[in-house]
Amino acid sequence: MNDLRLVVMGAAGRMGRMLVQTIPDTLGVRLTGALVRPASPMLGMDSGKMVGAEANGVLISADLGAALADCDVLVDFSTPQASIALCERTAATGIAHVLGTTGFSEEDLAVVAACAQKTAIVRSGNMSLGVNLLAALVERAARTLGPAWDAEIIEMHHRMKVDAPSGTALLLGAAAARGRGVNLADHSARGRDGITGPRKTGDIGFASLRGGTVIGDHSVIFAGAGERIELSHRAEDRGVFARGALAAALWTRDKPPGLYSMADVLGLSG
Ligand code: NAP
Repeated sequence: MNDLRLVVMGAAGRMGRMLVQTIPDTLGVRLTGALVRPASPMLGMDSGKMVGAEANGVLISADLGAALADCDVLVDFSTPQASIALCERTAATGIAHVLGTTGFSEEDLAVVAACAQKTAIVRSGNMSLGVNLLAALVERAARTLGPAWDAEIIEMHHRMKVDAPSGTALLLGAAAARGRGVNLADHSARGRDGITGPRKTGDIGFASLRGGTVIGDHSVIFAGAGERIELSHRAEDRGVFARGALAAALWTRDKPPGLYSMADVLGLSG
């Protein structure tokens, strides 16, 4: 079987660099494109050299058309605006899209869902095996404990992160809501400040901390009367997300159009 041809979108970013570094060590895939913004100072540089490795012959480019002409799967960790524009291009060409970007609005997500009718999209706010298993455990705990146990989600990330709560916190909140059989949007408490009044039964609370170089810490606390359960995950290096994204890219081979999650890729759904 031929290696899957991968194009990395946002190649000069933290995750993009990690992907460029990880792809040569991953069986069944090869890097064919490394995309950045048209104004990027990296344009024209060899992408292997950019990450401190041997030259790989794939030059950093902003030519989306040329990159998509030699691509089976686009792996995208960039910005919501860039990702939404890209979804429309991958959908039009039937190229599979692994979408790791976070911070989408409801309208953006509707565009992603529409694009997924034309091509396979794997979207996850966290591509690591550990977090996706944590989400499955959270769903089970929420189903068992019910709304009488208050669910609170705490996350901490590095000081450069621009969106809050993190995509992973929202993914965990959605898992808790699923376990309780409710809609997260109707039951989430975000950003408490001032005289907020007592906690509403059934709310799923979120708190975001930012600082230093933290890659990603998440805890889900279920607080009952006189006892507490805490389920936590700590990402120690960005490689966990890159390896998950590459597993997702390989999984898309021959998949029909649809919007998939990492739970599908890892066989954790259902
Ligand atoms: P980052 O270092 O800021 O990288 C984002 C990159 O996207 C930047 O290099 C930026 O270029 C580039 N970009 C923006 N617009 C572009 C465009 N129109 N064309 C091409 N490139 C463009 O951020 P990061 O830490 O890598 O994270 C990226 C995204 O992935 C965030 O949304 C983050 O929350 C998410 N993330 C998800 C997971 C997961 O498992 N799903 C894990 C980690 C991070 P400039 O530098 O020129 O602005």
